[in-house]
Amino acid sequence: MIQYHGEIIYEKGRHTKLANLMNEFPEIDIKQDEPLMRYTYTQTGGPADWLAFPKSIDEIKQLVQYTRENDMPLTVLGNASNLIVRDGGIDGLTMILTNLKDIKVSGNQVTAQAGASYIDTTIAARDHKLTGLEFAAGIPGSIGGAIFMNAGAYGGETKNVVSSATVMLPDGTIEHFDNQGLDFGYRHSSVQDNHGVVLDATFTLEPGDYEQIKATMDDLNERRAAKQPLELPSCGSVFKRPTGYFAGKLIHDAGLQGYTHGGAQVSTKHAGFIVNIDHGTAADYVAVIKHVQETVKAKFGVALETEVRIIGRN
Ligand SMILES: Cc1cc2nc3c(=O)[nH]c(=O)nc-3n(C[C@H](O)[C@H](O)[C@H](O)COP(=O)(O)OP(=O)(O)OC[C@H]3O[C@@H](n4cnc5c(N)ncnc54)[C@H](O)[C@@H]3O)c2cc1C
Repeated sequence: MIQYHGEIIYEKGRHTKLANLMNEFPEIDIKQDEPLMRYTYTQTGGPADWLAFPKSIDEIKQLVQYTRENDMPLTVLGNASNLIVRDGGIDGLTMILTNLKDIKVSGNQVTAQAGASYIDTTIAARDHKLTGLEFAAGIPGSIGGAIFMNAGAYGGETKNVVSSATVMLPDGTIEHFDNQGLDFGYRHSSVQDNHGVVLDATFTLEPGDYEQIKATMDDLNERRAAKQPLELPSCGSVFKRPTGYFAGKLIHDAGLQGYTHGGAQVSTKHAGFIVNIDHGTAADYVAVIKHVQETVKAKFGVALETEVRIIGRN
């Protein structure tokens, strides 16, 4: 930490504290030092130096270009349902895209903006009698996060239904990627490599029967509620599926369900989830994750890799 004109500046975030983004962009909704625990599904995470809620592609572009020109770190969040933001918060500018939430249906195509919820998108598809998105009925992320992560459930994957996505690259240019160009893999897409901002995605679906689509979605949501600790804050399945195993079963068999550090606990309902039972911090989450990884490795020789993304300053 250094002092500069009476202002405390963190070495790492030097540009961050010098700039005043609220003055730079009076039209854009921007907050300073905003606690991210208000936005994350785990209800943990320190402050974003700057937190912006752009309302248009043009506002996103202004922010992307500003951060690039001023060498300021930029982080994009969707619904923050697959994230642990460390307790020190996030350097530079963080953008949440939930103001861009239009969903349009044309024929058998559904186009949703990045900040639209995946759940609302599945409902729009159902209401237009389009089948193919039922698997995502209970995935609590945004469309941007679903493309970034190639979210999937119950045998379905985002990659199977997306025909294209619009992405703003770090230099502010906008590119349309088809399914192949998105280079989907298990919890992977090319957006993780090109560091772009997903703006929207188009899903190509099939005509279906409303009642049947609804019944499938209701059934999957019931199965989810029966198995997952939806009544407590969490970030979904913490670990990727290791080849040949199930993370949850390994954690269960290692006797780790109920293991608690501070306010974070390996769920007693679903071993793959870590829940916030009592004002848990990101540090509590990280400690539980580390203990689970070490124990499973020692007992079964399997390395558990996190699916959830851990970001920010300690
Ligand atoms: C109770 C619960 C159940 C869940 N069940 C499932 C499940 O069944 N299947 C599954 O796959 N996941 C599941 N998840 C995890 C999560 O919902 C998904 O991974 C989801 O796709 C993440 O979307 P998000 O908007 O919350 O992304 P965030 O958590 O906000 O972000 C995740 C990553 O995506 C990036 N990102 C977000 N938006 C954009 C954008 N517009 N452009 C570029 N990058 C972006 C972020 O920078 C971050 O690196 C679950 C989570 C919870 C809490």
